[in-house]
Amino acid sequence: MTSTSGPGHSHAPAPPHAQRARGAAAANDPFPDVEKVRPGLWSVPVPLPNNSLRYVLVYVFETDRGPYLMDAGWNTDDAFAALQSGLTEVGCDVADVQGVMVTHIHPDHYGLAGRIREASGAWISLHPADAELIHDRYDEPDDLLDRVAAALRQMGAPSEELEPLRNAAMPVRPLVDPVVPDVLLEDGAQPEVPGWDLTAIWTPGHSPGHLCFYEARNELMLSGDHVLPRITPNIPFHPQAGANPLGDYLNSLDKLEPYEVNEVLPAHEYRFDDLRTRLEELRQHHRDRFTEVIAILSEGPHTAWDIAEHMRWSRSWDDIAGFMRRAAVGETVSHLRALEIDGIVQVDDGEPSLWSLSEGTAAQRAKR
Ligand SMILES: [Zn+2]
Ligand SMILES: [Zn+2]
Repeated sequence: MTSTSGPGHSHAPAPPHAQRARGAAAANDPFPDVEKVRPGLWSVPVPLPNNSLRYVLVYVFETDRGPYLMDAGWNTDDAFAALQSGLTEVGCDVADVQGVMVTHIHPDHYGLAGRIREASGAWISLHPADAELIHDRYDEPDDLLDRVAAALRQMGAPSEELEPLRNAAMPVRPLVDPVVPDVLLEDGAQPEVPGWDLTAIWTPGHSPGHLCFYEARNELMLSGDHVLPRITPNIPFHPQAGANPLGDYLNSLDKLEPYEVNEVLPAHEYRFDDLRTRLEELRQHHRDRFTEVIAILSEGPHTAWDIAEHMRWSRSWDDIAGFMRRAAVGETVSHLRALEIDGIVQVDDGEPSLWSLSEGTAAQRAKR
């Protein structure tokens, strides 16, 4: 694993075809400037050092009351300084911020929100499904970590990897100020940002309470980590993820389909215009992954860990370590759970659990 993939990274290693299709690695792209997206709307990159995502894009909505932000960055002095200098370039100040709409609770989006509130008195918003995870995840994580370890055992993680993988996300804890949000935004809620016509769209999958926001006046889709132009967001199976996070994610892709969109404003990488093409690429990516999982299981029952080891990733399995390895296995289980719910695969209740093709699927394949 290279040093650029720290535990704050919320995306699994990509399968090789995803990279081929999309050209140069993000690491070679120039670091973006503060950019004017529309009159009164700005994009401010906030750096994520030692992380392959490199920066989060904070969007700044100017209003006659002061600026409102979408997402925040993580809680470091450098990130706060970068945000402050970006806001100065825009012509305002952190102290003037009125509200911070956080797309989801990952540290690179929510970590710095508390410090912004402290400096300005701004409100912070989240979807309730993410807000309710804060305490167990960041304040008192021991119980959650034990549940992570139990899940890893069931997935078939080798015993010597249990302890390091259990704790693989702990280095990001200091990057989060685990504040309680002031405003909870449900699906369809319209955050109060004067002069802008914003609607929250609940898009669970990458996290249970992930929100996208549609700005109707300019036909903009602020997509958070749900839809990125090049990276496929990690859809982890995790004790806090619900029963079928990948099923949720695929439904959440469909949910964006009806919107008329001029431009997509993601939280990482860069803005792009053809949302529907990207939605279809993401669906196709997961269809390909389903096919891969089924092919592996057609050779016989496997643990989730074995399946992950046999899948194609952008680097060899031995080079995927720590948090990235946990994300890769978690992503594999998300595919397995979605296939199980569709009746295509089944799992026993052993420890570790063995996955196999369901009888119907096996019979169908035998006939071909
Ligand atoms: Zn994320
Ligand atoms: Zn992110």
